[in-house]
Amino acid sequence: MAVCLVCGKFEPIGLDAAMKKGWVFTRCPECHRGTPFDIARVYLSKTIGEENIEGFCNKHWFRDSGVCAYCRMRREGAQQAVA
Ligand SMILES: [Zn+2]
Ligand SMILES: [Zn+2]
Repeated sequence: MAVCLVCGKFEPIGLDAAMKKGWVFTRCPECHRGTPFDIARVYLSKTIGEENIEGFCNKHWFRDSGVCAYCRMRREGAQQAVA
């Protein structure tokens, strides 16, 4: 089951299905939240049954800035403070 670290949304689907729907499994370089895809896969292969894999849903990972929604919000907040 894929769980979004930002909004808590979850979908009872596997890693591959989740990624096809736009989920991202990686570690955010700024806040270090998240599970890298390769680690998540190893973890899943060792466990049987339903496991929660923490990642970011399609709304909470920004490929252009390469950070999660938390860090993007923080960056935008800083920009507003400067302006
Ligand atoms: Zn989300
Ligand atoms: Zn982050």
